[in-house]
Amino acid sequence: MTVAVVGGGCSGVLAAVHLLTHSDGRSRVVLIERDAEVGAGVAYGTDAPWHTLNTTASVMSAYPGDPDDFTRWASRMHLTATANSYLPRRLYRLYLQATLADADRASGSALFRLRARVTAVHPRGAGAIVGLDDGGHVEADRVVLALGNLPPRDPVDTLGTIGPRYVRDPWAPRALAGVDHDEPVLLIGSGLTAVDVALTLAGRGHRGPIDAVSRHGLLPRAHAPWPVEPTPVPAIQARPGLTAKALLRAVVKAARAADAGGGDWRAVVDGLRPTTQTLWRALSPAERRRFLRRAARLWEVHRHRMAPSVAASVDGLRASGRLVVRSGAIASVAPDGGAVRVGIRQTGGVVRELRVGHVVNCTGPSTDVAASDDPLLRSLLASGTARPDPLGLGLDVTDDGALVSSAGSPSSVLRTLGPLCRGRLWETTAVPEIRDQACALATALVGERRSAAV
Ligand SMILES: Cc1cc2nc3c(=O)[nH]c(=O)nc-3n(C[C@H](O)[C@H](O)[C@H](O)COP(=O)(O)OP(=O)(O)OC[C@H]3O[C@@H](n4cnc5c(N)ncnc54)[C@H](O)[C@@H]3O)c2cc1C
Repeated sequence: MTVAVVGGGCSGVLAAVHLLTHSDGRSRVVLIERDAEVGAGVAYGTDAPWHTLNTTASVMSAYPGDPDDFTRWASRMHLTATANSYLPRRLYRLYLQATLADADRASGSALFRLRARVTAVHPRGAGAIVGLDDGGHVEADRVVLALGNLPPRDPVDTLGTIGPRYVRDPWAPRALAGVDHDEPVLLIGSGLTAVDVALTLAGRGHRGPIDAVSRHGLLPRAHAPWPVEPTPVPAIQARPGLTAKALLRAVVKAARAADAGGGDWRAVVDGLRPTTQTLWRALSPAERRRFLRRAARLWEVHRHRMAPSVAASVDGLRASGRLVVRSGAIASVAPDGGAVRVGIRQTGGVVRELRVGHVVNCTGPSTDVAASDDPLLRSLLASGTARPDPLGLGLDVTDDGALVSSAGSPSSVLRTLGPLCRGRLWETTAVPEIRDQACALATALVGERRSAAV
């Protein structure tokens, strides 16, 4: 069996690792990545030392059954690391690369790597033809789409009018190179991307004021500086008729009770992780929409937290007045001499004007595949091989990641994992969930090959 894995970010590498680990010497894995390096992607492509993992080493192992694998690798590299360390993100890229090389060796070199951009996948017979931008193609029995995070979308249409003073994608190479050290900067968004950008500017010696604005004005919460054991909450259960409001209330109640009892609200949030996908599926489509409108941001800031050292740096920037976080909506954007004038509508309708040198889009990856200009996604949607998730959170997929066609049938050839499954699973963007999906996917594909061979 030939399995083509499209995309060599964290999801693609973990899929390849598990396919190689499960292989019995009669399968090959073709990993196709358009960039030079695998294991990087948006999250782990950074070399900045201040960009640390936002989770401890203990949850970042590539293998679900061996939680210490990443920590052991770090020790072998002579790094000072314990299970509770928040290591730099670039080290995770090196770990993924080393883990892939080990899995390839152990499989008897069943891995083939191609540097190309996949522009189309055409189902053919019992397999598919994977079209590449160099005119070549790969014939595969199964295709795993690990396309990951889509580039960010413009939060306001008029941002295009300010030309190079608008940084559309802060993760693009040298995206912040044009920002002068003394100029005021506006970040649109106040989540983990805004935190990354603020720390990058500070790390490069930026001295001007940085304003971060988002609808809620909420920054991600910090991890506790001490280990917090996740605590399951038996009262929070998936059940028919579950509503977003009831779910939110139950979580807030349990978190407050934990704090009041001398515990930690983080134990409740983390304790929900194994059941989050089940809880999400228990909500009706209308309730999921309600959750997205009313509670998603609140959930995200508590669930996706900053490492303690990152939180301390952010606190320092705020205390010195160099970083100000506000709630509000962008009301106007216009060029103003050698700068940009931005109007921010605050609560009560008052518009506050800022004059800044650059505006940086920190709203994070887009999830709207229908609006994507990616040739592969466009081709899959145009041919009806795939369809968007009804909530606009990625592709429509089954629980095990099979793409659902425009006619509603699950594909037997194309699967996906990671961020594109968000509509179906919600909790699917972090490593623990991605590696579980990669392992399950490899088990299923190897099982299919064995039953075909009987
Ligand atoms: C800034 C940031 C920090 C994070 N930190 C953590 C953390 O500390 N802990 C944690 O558990 N999770 C973290 N996450 C979440 C998680 O690890 C990422 O979302 C994860 O990297 C997703 O990996 P991916 O491979 O699916 O996507 P991506 O990282 O987006 O990679 C997709 C890859 O596919 C390639 N590709 C796309 N289309 C094609 C094509 N048509 N042809 C060929 N190649 C293609 C791209 O070049 C890219 O390399 C973080 C996420 C972000 C954004």
